[in-house]
Amino acid sequence: MANTPKKELHCSFCDQARPDLIQGVDNTYICTDCIERAHDIVQQMMQSAEAPALDLQHLPKPTEIKAFLDQYVIGQDEAKKYLSVAVYNHYKRIATAGSNDGVDIEKSNIILVGSTGTGKTLLAKTIARMLAVPFTIVDATVLTEAGYVGEDVESILTRLLQECNFNQELAERGIVFIDEIDKIARKSDNPSITRDVSGEGVQQALLKLLEGSIVNVPPKGGRKHPEQEYIKINTENILFICGGAFDGIEKKIAQRLNTHVVGFESSKRVQHIDQSNLLQYIAPQDLKAYGLIPEIIGRIPVLTYLEPLDRTALRNILTEPKNAIIKQYVKLLAMDGVALTFEPEVLDYIVDKAIEYHLGARGLRSLTETIMMDIMYRVPTAKMAEYTVTLQYARQQIEAANIVRLQNNV
Ligand code: ADP
Repeated sequence: MANTPKKELHCSFCDQARPDLIQGVDNTYICTDCIERAHDIVQQMMQSAEAPALDLQHLPKPTEIKAFLDQYVIGQDEAKKYLSVAVYNHYKRIATAGSNDGVDIEKSNIILVGSTGTGKTLLAKTIARMLAVPFTIVDATVLTEAGYVGEDVESILTRLLQECNFNQELAERGIVFIDEIDKIARKSDNPSITRDVSGEGVQQALLKLLEGSIVNVPPKGGRKHPEQEYIKINTENILFICGGAFDGIEKKIAQRLNTHVVGFESSKRVQHIDQSNLLQYIAPQDLKAYGLIPEIIGRIPVLTYLEPLDRTALRNILTEPKNAIIKQYVKLLAMDGVALTFEPEVLDYIVDKAIEYHLGARGLRSLTETIMMDIMYRVPTAKMAEYTVTLQYARQQIEAANIVRLQNNV
């Protein structure tokens, strides 16, 4: 039996006979080399595309930014206002950049201080949804001083570049949220004699970024090395928002207020101080006492705080935000044709447990998940039209659960 020779296929772009062709319509083909070339051309076009001018008329105003945040984040009015104004002013700076009236609007980097799980990252993520400029969130804990294991500080800007397809002009007007800034505090208030890999050295490196200077950014992030080509980024117009829990900073605040966390009643001077929420009195010198270097503090002039979440706030978090936890489970079961409802006592019970086990807002999700797990397993095949989660059922599920695991899950 004679073998019929296979017809050789050619790339419709470079006309080479190739084994790695991808078929398009009407017997057209493209080889992987041509795909790569086309990809490079598109990338270059995107990188060199001029950043559009920001038209202040059409950009969200501070009250609108806050109203947007209100849809997703419960409470934290103070922090929301500061953020909204900072973002709006950031737009204004960019819109007026290059004007020669001699009045330069200085950027106002922000620092948000608040216990873990009070909504710092949520605020940052939510604001990112409505921004007209590139935005990225980075974790300060991965950064180390040059020469040590970890990421160079410049890799922060790599992330920003990635957000806008390496369009330098766009990146240079972006916003960076640096989370866990407190983790790079130096370990004691005294300037270090020995090297402090994860603290002061990183702060010094970060300072260069915050100050507004030309920074060599490794395109792939991570560690810089000598043979690498860098992208030069001017950080003058990049807005930095920092967040941190600053665990224990209340003690520094209390010391400054010339009192102690307990037993302040004896002092007349501090009679009006709300002992239960000392964070509201935070001042730059407390950050210094905690271990941020004065130069960094000077470069982050706007300092605000997040409120601890009380029972009412936690209860609202369950049901009020646009993508509230309870709404998510209702949606999941609605996809199986099941109308899910909760007895109101169940929601109070979840809040009580989150407080009792010190799980905070993050615990609300894991507690609800624990209650819902078996329901989500059974209900889709049970062919029911509705399901109500009762207090008795919720209690059974939580009591049967491993609390240590719940605590580790938040
Ligand atoms: P932080 O960054 O302050 O440690 P997160 O923003 O990561 O805390 O909050 C953890 C989770 O808790 C969020 O994903 C959200 O589900 C919930 N949460 C915390 N604070 C709030 C809030 N103020 N409003 C709504 N949800 C919140």
